Amino acid sequence: MGWWTRSWRGPRTRGAAAFIVLALLLSLVVVSTVRSGVAVATDCSAGWVALTYDDGPIPHRTNTVLAALDRAGIQATFFPVGYLVRSYPDVIRKTADRGHVIANHTWRHENLRKLSTSAIVSTVNRAHNQIQAAGVVPARLVRPPGGFTDSRVRRALSNAGYRQVLWDVDPWDWSGKSASGIYSNVVRYARNGSVVVLHDGSANYRNTASATERIVKTLHGRGYCFGVLNNQGRIVPGDEAAVKVGPFYDVAGSPFADDILWLYNEEITKGCNPPYNNRFCPTETVTRGQMAAFLMRALGLTEGAGLDVFGDDDDSVFEADIERLAAAGITKGCNPPANDRFCPQRRVTRAEVAAFLVRALGLTEGVGSDRFVDGDDSIFQVDIERLAAAGITKGCNPPANDRFCPRDPVPRGQMAAFLHRAAAHLP
Ligand SMILES: [Zn+2]
Repeated sequence: MGWWTRSWRGPRTRGAAAFIVLALLLSLVVVSTVRSGVAVATDCSAGWVALTYDDGPIPHRTNTVLAALDRAGIQATFFPVGYLVRSYPDVIRKTADRGHVIANHTWRHENLRKLSTSAIVSTVNRAHNQIQAAGVVPARLVRPPGGFTDSRVRRALSNAGYRQVLWDVDPWDWSGKSASGIYSNVVRYARNGSVVVLHDGSANYRNTASATERIVKTLHGRGYCFGVLNNQGRIVPGDEAAVKVGPFYDVAGSPFADDILWLYNEEITKGCNPPYNNRFCPTETVTRGQMAAFLMRALGLTEGAGLDVFGDDDDSVFEADIERLAAAGITKGCNPPANDRFCPQRRVTRAEVAAFLVRALGLTEGVGSDRFVDGDDSIFQVDIERLAAAGITKGCNPPANDRFCPRDPVPRGQMAAFLHRAAAHLP
């Protein structure tokens, strides 16, 4: 247990507790988390298999596949299409955050055999640059769409610094086959070193996702492990392909790596993918509903369960938590001054976090100052200035830092930094 437990039980009840639970909400892990869970249940004695997913990112489809991979507890290799990366950069970032490798499937799914050599290089480079623009380091691996390739295509890719990747197991998941059909084909043909081609971007994504979980379970049972492709096209263990920070392999390279490690060492967070908890998901944001659940659990509030202060949370799984928080005066609504709505699905904003931290820490200095040009119209302007006076925030646009971006959502990594600095103000 860390400092927060001691503070919680001390005389500073509500303020400290509110701060503590802000910290706890960082962990999307519920108390029932199995801490002894391990990512790989086998000794890999049968060998290694790589699952690969093409034609994304398409938000709902890719997210469904990612959730299946989460539950399976493995990493895979994705071959996205450049123009979709341009449309959905956050989805590709989320994929990379989970430890999956991001490779290259051209800009617009062209048949490379029909392109000139310079056009081959152009479409592949354009996709590569688009992935980088999304904040992800792509592997230098290219899968020619449809598998259409020849020696000229392969040489063009190689000369441009890419390695061509095909597959040896193809269940035709995109063609509308059932989950059972996809599953049976893969577990029948997979062997040590197999590269399985699947699709997160096809309309049959639900069956692909469902088959994925069954494939992993069965092949794990046969002694196989699942890895990702490195730049040489070889299968390597996902966890070892990335540099770990503490137990997390999605944190290296984050500007908040030190803060996240601090958070972990203080036992404030476990991770974002129970039961494995080898990821922190630093770019994922937290909803107000999730926040309410963590606040309620940590505070052990019992009053207000039968209230119905807010009209928009009746269908939320967090309704009881939200109403209790309202009864305790810890949570206000999302639509001042009426405050008859809570917006449980909405992301917590930087301004809202400022208000919580200021209330929790009892910060009073800084009133009357005006160091951010964009904070003046925020109802949290006083809180924002107090937070800055305490050194807990500098701004959102370094090095100038004359803006606070009060309406921006708060990714988990950024929250770690807020909490790390705020901890210095605790008794
Ligand atoms: Zn494709």
